[in-house]
Amino acid sequence: MERFDHVPERRCIACRRSFPQSELIRIVSTPEGLRPWEKGLSGRSCYICRNSECVETAFEKNCFARSLRKEVRKTELAELRKRIDITD
Ligand SMILES: [Zn+2]
Repeated sequence: MERFDHVPERRCIACRRSFPQSELIRIVSTPEGLRPWEKGLSGRSCYICRNSECVETAFEKNCFARSLRKEVRKTELAELRKRIDITD
């Protein structure tokens, strides 16, 4: 199967569709909790579409726990939600 490019694709944890990594919000599991990716952060990651629907779904269903295979507490989710700024 021939592809035009080699853009790495990642799956959104909410809608489960694949998109180029650059179009998604990357969430990193750090020792301090879940954080939107920024320079210098590394760790197990998951991705969400940059739209409020997928972001809300991800938080409502706590898709992070499933995707990262770790327990994610409600307080941790609330903290992360404050750090994600989404405008459709
Ligand atoms: Zn999505």
